[in-house]
Amino acid sequence: MRKINTRSFRRATRSTTREINRQIVLNLVHEHQPISRAELARQMGVARGSVTPLVKDLLEEGLIYERSSEATARGRRPTLLYVRTDDRLAFGIDIRTSGTSILLGDFAGREIITERFPTLMAPAELVAELGSRVGSMVEKYSDIGEFEGIGLVVPGMVDRTTGVVLHAPTLHWRDVDLRGSLAAAVGMPVHIERDAVACAMAHMWLGDNGALSNNFVYLTVSDGVGTGLVVNGGVLRGASSTAGEFGHVPLNLEGPRCACGARGCLEAYTSNPATVARYLGLELDSPDAYAELRSAGIEVGDVIDRARSGDAAATWALWETGRCLGIGIANLINSVSPAQVVVGGEITNAWNLIEPAVRESIRERALTTVSADTPLVVQPDEDRLRLRGGTSLVLAPVLRAPEVA
Ligand SMILES: [Zn+2]
Repeated sequence: MRKINTRSFRRATRSTTREINRQIVLNLVHEHQPISRAELARQMGVARGSVTPLVKDLLEEGLIYERSSEATARGRRPTLLYVRTDDRLAFGIDIRTSGTSILLGDFAGREIITERFPTLMAPAELVAELGSRVGSMVEKYSDIGEFEGIGLVVPGMVDRTTGVVLHAPTLHWRDVDLRGSLAAAVGMPVHIERDAVACAMAHMWLGDNGALSNNFVYLTVSDGVGTGLVVNGGVLRGASSTAGEFGHVPLNLEGPRCACGARGCLEAYTSNPATVARYLGLELDSPDAYAELRSAGIEVGDVIDRARSGDAAATWALWETGRCLGIGIANLINSVSPAQVVVGGEITNAWNLIEPAVRESIRERALTTVSADTPLVVQPDEDRLRLRGGTSLVLAPVLRAPEVA
């Protein structure tokens, strides 16, 4: 049960019940489409007559549409309901040091076009470039449908109320109002989210995991290590909306130096640079060591390739990453009890090499036999998921549960 916040609440009105039931209908159609009114009523456990006015509202608002199905054996042709998705368009924009991608897709998750270009590190220049690229796409594809917004995915912490990027270490950004300036440049709504949260949202809104997708952890293991925590169908944000920085939970107080400046964080043991440093026998003794590491010219993909061709040092380096990752995952399991842990990032290319080490650590540390068996799901294409995460930032407000009390 949830306590009512008496300083910030939304009072129920006469239309509240209808609003809630309307969103339930919309989500059922989204999940089970095509679906008949009779089946909807059965799913909701109500008489068909109660569903009819809700469906009528959604049809009038253009959120769903109906189409006759094939005739049945008895000659009846029930009309089936669909969520209107193909002519509702959204942009997903993923900004990383290694490059920026723009995906134009529809509300069903279908990709129309993707463009990629080198990231301009100066925010004003990046906004100008994004504005011009989005503008050309709008011109080119305006006959397909309506552009409903942009979802920006950034590798850093974001202030939920202002949309300002508070700190994105890999881009060297602090307090950058990317959302505001892009919205002004393109004239459409812009949403913004930290990368791991956007991946979690794509998993929740565009995945096909049913009830599992209401309680899970998305763990990204890449240049950095981050998590998106989904609890009871909502992203866990905390008081200052920066919850989920599990990459900086320490495994060892005297451990290697993390990019955040502290010692022994999970990230300092399991990120791509950490794995490469272990392989090369380099010590991560200062945040500057990460820059030196980049000049070594070896990527985690090379370490994985070498392990696959029998290099013992590479195999060991990855095994250690897996062992530490397992401890991190066990911490997550013990803290939030997810139904599943989804792992994304380049490390997934080495999954069959490290999974036994990951599992062993989880078995050692998980506190119950049930939690020790928490399913681990590998997400092999995080690049795509980040972009889909961007578009799901535009889609989610349409499908979300109404906020009351
Ligand atoms: Zn750290």
